[in-house]
Amino acid sequence: MPDCIFCQIASKQLSAHITYEDKQVIAFNDIDPQAPVHQLIIPKQHISTLNDITSESIPLIGHMVKVASELAHEFNLNESGYRTVFNCNANGGQMVFHIHLHLLGGRQMSWPPG
Ligand code: AMP
Ligand code: ZN
Repeated sequence: MPDCIFCQIASKQLSAHITYEDKQVIAFNDIDPQAPVHQLIIPKQHISTLNDITSESIPLIGHMVKVASELAHEFNLNESGYRTVFNCNANGGQMVFHIHLHLLGGRQMSWPPG
């Protein structure tokens, strides 16, 4: 998807501070961090929203969660705790229409979310 900024990051046309990469996914610092650690884990394949995932996407989504857990360990968040979030469409607060898993940590998170 040429106009998608996360496809552009995945293909290195747009720069980002990349913290993890493999064949399926890439992780990078959020440009507007909402916590001391704020990472985004995205698939390299373009999927617009969580509404678009299929049974075939299950291993990919599981892999994204595993990468989030490994990054949480790398950033020393595993003991203190962290939050992972997928936002979907307007009420979910989704701004970029290429699925991404937020990993937030390094401060106390509030619940319920605003
Ligand atoms: P969401 O509201 O769930 O769609 O989250 C989109 C996230 O992408 C926001 O937290 C933005 O700060 C972040 N973001 C937007 N553009 C970039 C970029 N070029 N590099 C890194 N993060 C970005
Ligand atoms: Zn995309």
